[in-house]
Amino acid sequence: MHCKIAIDGPAGSGKTTVAKLIAQRLSIDYLDTGAMYRMIGLVLHNLGASAKEASLKKYLEHIKIKYDEGKFYLNGQIVGDEIRTPEAGMYASDFASHNDVREFLTQIQKEICKNRSIVAEGRDIGTVVIPDANVKIFLVASPEVRARRRYDELKNKGIDVKYEDLLEQIIERDKNDSTRDIAPLVKAGDAIEIDTSNLTVEQVVDRIIEIVKERCKL
Ligand code: C5P
Repeated sequence: MHCKIAIDGPAGSGKTTVAKLIAQRLSIDYLDTGAMYRMIGLVLHNLGASAKEASLKKYLEHIKIKYDEGKFYLNGQIVGDEIRTPEAGMYASDFASHNDVREFLTQIQKEICKNRSIVAEGRDIGTVVIPDANVKIFLVASPEVRARRRYDELKNKGIDVKYEDLLEQIIERDKNDSTRDIAPLVKAGDAIEIDTSNLTVEQVVDRIIEIVKERCKL
């Protein structure tokens, strides 16, 4: 039996760290859908596109995304840390509200999640991408804790940022993501909410693995 695990939540709630560790511990695939919105956001921005355009199809039809063992290739080029900047996050959030972008990426994501055990993380995994997931988790944490985590993460990568700017961007992105008309950030009715503000990464991972073991035979 394939085991599908959906991990949703706002920016900085710990999704990426937690989802990657779960995939490692269970030896199953890992899908970072935020990375896909970031790469598309960056490409569309570089092409001079605007999220206000009625149709973005003329840009999207030239974009090919390939997923292979957790790595992404955009038109044949491996995708790296260029998508991790705060600007790429804002472009992602901006273009993520466009129906053409969501349709384009959702279809690729559904395809990736077919016929395999996988941990997928994002904003709409439990609600749209794999509504039949065996386990749905919704991670939350205060904006301050989330901004601090992003700050530490970017500093570790040598990217220079201000904590105050990150906090402002997180609040702005939360607003964008939860108020958009299509696939807004909402908890699936059958998702289990975990507040990670005062938990260690290991504690969150252990809680989720326990739930997975109850529901999936891996
Ligand atoms: O998770 P991450 O911060 O990398 O995501 C970047 C942006 O991509 C989010 O702020 C959100 O607007 C968008 N996104 C989305 N749906 C997903 C994953 C990400 O709309 N499943």
